[in-house]
Amino acid sequence: MSAGGTIVVVGAGQAGFQAAASLREAGFDGSLTIVGDEPVAPYQRPPLSKAYLAGKATAGTLALRPASFYADHRIALRLGTRAAALDRAGRQVALASGERLAYDHLILATGARNRPLPVPGADLAGVLQLRTLADADSIQARLAGVETVVVVGAGFIGLEFAAVAAARAIAVTVVEAAGSVMSRAVSQATSAFFRQAHEAAGIRFVLGASAERIAGADGRVTAVETTDGRSLPADLVLVGIGVVPNADLAAEAGLAVADGILVDHTLLTSDPAVSAIGDCAVFPSPFAGRAPTRIESVQNAVDQARCVAARLTGRAAPYAALPWFWSDQGRLKLQIAGLARPHDRAVTRGDPATGAFSVFCYRHGHLVGVESVNRPADHMIARRLIAERLPLAPEQAADPAFDLRALVRAAAA
Ligand code: FAD
Ligand code: NDP
Repeated sequence: MSAGGTIVVVGAGQAGFQAAASLREAGFDGSLTIVGDEPVAPYQRPPLSKAYLAGKATAGTLALRPASFYADHRIALRLGTRAAALDRAGRQVALASGERLAYDHLILATGARNRPLPVPGADLAGVLQLRTLADADSIQARLAGVETVVVVGAGFIGLEFAAVAAARAIAVTVVEAAGSVMSRAVSQATSAFFRQAHEAAGIRFVLGASAERIAGADGRVTAVETTDGRSLPADLVLVGIGVVPNADLAAEAGLAVADGILVDHTLLTSDPAVSAIGDCAVFPSPFAGRAPTRIESVQNAVDQARCVAARLTGRAAPYAALPWFWSDQGRLKLQIAGLARPHDRAVTRGDPATGAFSVFCYRHGHLVGVESVNRPADHMIARRLIAERLPLAPEQAADPAFDLRALVRAAAA
């Protein structure tokens, strides 16, 4: 595609914003529109379950750019507007209002939505989920009078929320279907450490059980009944049981979809006039083994957006960015480099009893992921080690005297 033309981005989240910003940075001079169904300009979601919920950040500080940025960069923002259908043959997006937007290239950055809790009582007042600023505001508004919270799901959202609630002296119980916390994302060692740290802060865990029914009175939640026969009192229930990619628009338009929108190594869908990026995209990753993967993170949304912007301005390259993640839970900062799951060997560097350590995870003898807790320097080195596939034996990783920095420096020399 030339420096001109018309690009429409569907989804005004992290990936959609970044695609538009990077297109302008790369010299794209044509018409550029972002369509977003939320009523607010693109904002950061990570603080919603951290500083924003803890009352340490305001809505104004979450915006990815001030309003003037969009006018200055000739990016038309169509907010509070849902893209309802795609006409791929005619290269048009039909908005819910009936209006149609023509495109030369379309970028789908539709993200994901929370998986609903499929049990009776999940629609009671006080049973909440967290994805958007509006969700965070309604949780915030209710938290003031709450004494007892049950969190369903011990993933990132569940644990970040639990830490914020416990810090407000609210009694918190977390119910998790798996036998350990953050089991989808981290090693057993890191999982066990976080569970113990949260327990020390007063959070109670019910593992290996799911919510079976939510009990209520006068339309409001009163308790969560679990599959192992407990009844856990609750004034508020926070459900964080994962997400579902927003792939319906693509599927209805006949694009290839399988737990997300399928794209190739340059993030093109099965239609060469349509790209997909961020939480909604299923892509081949050199870090994920053979099967295509879908990654839900800011890094992935930003780097995929940059990759597509580069392709559309004449610098096509396969998407090969190293995945990395972070999560703040109370005083604990978890940083993950690479995709550590699955792994067949894990070694620990540093002593978890000090509250600062890293777990190096290996698959078939190769370092695939490093989880660092309150050790940011390890995390930065780990990104280089994994991205550049530098050889590091598990014994070296576990040896605190072994100089990781020197290894990275030697590789650069
Ligand atoms: P989104 O940010 O979800 O944006 C997609 C947008 O498209 C949404 O506004 C959606 O409403 C809109 N949309 C969907 N369909 C349509 C349509 N048909 N028409 C118009 N608009 C549409 N990641 C990290 O790496 N670190 C963290 O600490 C972290 N914390 C998080 C905390 C919370 C509470 C949440 C919810 C997420 C967190 N994440 C974190 C995940 C991260 O925010 C997401 O991976 C990232 O936002 C994905 O960006 P995206 O643009 O793909 O999707
Ligand atoms: P996750 O997928 O991380 O975690 C969901 C957890 O809930 C899993 O452990 C899952 O277990 C469990 N679960 C599923 N169903 C039930 C059930 N019925 N009862 C009890 N437990 C259940 O998703 P989250 O909801 O925590 O996060 C949603 C999105 O927000 C994700 O995209 C996430 O990446 C993002 N996010 C990222 C953050 C970060 O990177 N720091 C912070 C906050 C959010 P199982 O795996 O066994 O199904």
